[in-house]
Amino acid sequence: MMFDPSAPVPPEELFRLDDPQTGLSGVIVIHSTALGPAAGGCRFHCYPGDADAVADALRLAEGMSRKNALAGLPLGGGKAVVRVPDGPFDRVALFRAFGRAVAALGGRYVTAEDVGTRVADMQSVADVTRHVAGLPAMAGAVGGDPSPWTALGVLRAMEVAVARHLDATLSDVTVAVQGLGHVGFALCELLHAAGARLIVAEPRAEVAAEAARRFGATVVGSTDLVAAEADVFAPCALGGVLDAKAVQRLRATVVCGAANNQLATPAQGDALLARGILYAPDYVVNAGGIINVAAEYLGWDPEEARSRVEATGERLAAVLDHAAAERMAPHRAADQLARIAITRAHRQPDLAA
Ligand code: NAD
Repeated sequence: MMFDPSAPVPPEELFRLDDPQTGLSGVIVIHSTALGPAAGGCRFHCYPGDADAVADALRLAEGMSRKNALAGLPLGGGKAVVRVPDGPFDRVALFRAFGRAVAALGGRYVTAEDVGTRVADMQSVADVTRHVAGLPAMAGAVGGDPSPWTALGVLRAMEVAVARHLDATLSDVTVAVQGLGHVGFALCELLHAAGARLIVAEPRAEVAAEAARRFGATVVGSTDLVAAEADVFAPCALGGVLDAKAVQRLRATVVCGAANNQLATPAQGDALLARGILYAPDYVVNAGGIINVAAEYLGWDPEEARSRVEATGERLAAVLDHAAAERMAPHRAADQLARIAITRAHRQPDLAA
C-alpha cells in the first residue's frame, strides 16, 4: 500500500475529564510527546455527544503534533476539549477542575486558549498548575495576545510564496484578505506597509470601513472575495473555506493565510495544485501563535521568539522544496515532513531537544 502522509496516527494517551461537581466533561488527548510536552489549546464548545468531542480532540491534537514539529519547537502535540455544560455552571470552578486534570498529567500536556476559552479561563487553570500558557504578558516578556505574531509569520510566508510562484514582491501584488479579526487586521496593516493592494471581506461593517480608510482596501462580500481579482487569497476567518466550489472559483494563484484547516478535505489541496495554484499549508504559515505560546511556557526571551516567527518563510520554503522534489502537493509534503520529524524523535529521543 502507498504511504499516505495525511493518514491519522494514533495518540499516545487519552484522558477523560469527568467532574460531576463542577460539570467538567470532555477529554485531553496527548497525541505525541516525541519532541517534548504535548502542547495545544483547550477548546470549550457544545458537542452533540461525547463521541463528537473525542473525535474533535483526536483530530486537533494530531494537528498540533504536526504544527509544533514543523515549527521546529521542542513540543509534541495535544489538545483538550471541554463540553459546555447543559445547565448553569461556575466557570472559574470548572476551569480550576480542568487545571487539576492538567496538573495530574505532570507536564506531559501544556494547555492554552483555543476556540471558546479566554485569558481569564487560563488564569483559573494557572491557580492550580504551571503547565499553562496564554496568560497576560508582563512588560518586556513574551506571552499575551499571539495574533500580532501570527500575522507577522503569515507575512513572511506570503513573501516567500509570492516570490516563488509569481516572481514578485508584496508591493507588486493584490491580496484578498478574508476576515479582519485579530490576525486579519494586523496582517492588513503589515501588507499595506509592504506596499500590497488589498481587497477585504469582513461582516463587521465598521471594521471593514476602517480597513478601507486606513489601508485603502476595497471592501467586498465574503462569497465574492474568493472570485475577486487578486494575486493572493489570505483566509483569516473560517476553517473549511476551500471546498470544491471555492477551489474552482478562485482567481488568485497563491493561497496563504492564517485560518486553521483551510482545506475542506485534503483532496482540495490536490485540486489547487492541478489548477496551478500554490497552497501554502495553513499550519506552516500560522505557527507564529504557537511559537509565542511556546516562548511563554519555555521562558524564551522576546528576541528568540521573534527570530523563530521571522523564520516562518524559510520553513515554508523547505516544505515547498520537499513538495517539488517529491512531486507532491505542499499540504502532503508538510504532513510528510512533520511525520518524519516525529518518527525520528521517537527513534532517537536524544535528538528531540
Ligand atoms: P477572530 O475571531 O479575531 O477573527 C475572525 C474574523 O473573521 C472576525 O472579524 C469575523 O467577523 C470574521 N468573519 C467571520 N465570518 C466571516 C466570513 N464569512 N467572511 C469574512 N470574515 C468573516 O479570529 P483570529 O484570532 O483573527 O483568527 C483568525 C483565524 O486564524 C482562525 O481560523 C484562527 O483559528 C486562526 N489562527 C489564529 C491564530 C491567532 O494567533 N489568533 C493563530 C493560528 C491560527
